Amino acid sequence: MKEERCTSCNARIFWTETVLDRVRIPLDATPVPDGRFRLDETYNPPRADYAKAGDPPGDRFNSHFVTCKKKGEK
Ligand SMILES: [Zn+2]
Repeated sequence: MKEERCTSCNARIFWTETVLDRVRIPLDATPVPDGRFRLDETYNPPRADYAKAGDPPGDRFNSHFVTCKKKGEK
């Protein structure tokens, strides 16, 4: 997947779509253990789905909308 930079804080992010409603969201490029999203790679390109108990182990990601330190600034 193409990696990009947040235009506000310059963090490494990548854009993907959610599984359910195909909304485009930016995810932090760096996985975190307690991230709310996982990538569903049965789609091509992979889409983001909410991580649930019982999901197979793998990388978890946070939405950059949530983690951006310069959220709302332009
Ligand atoms: Zn940012």
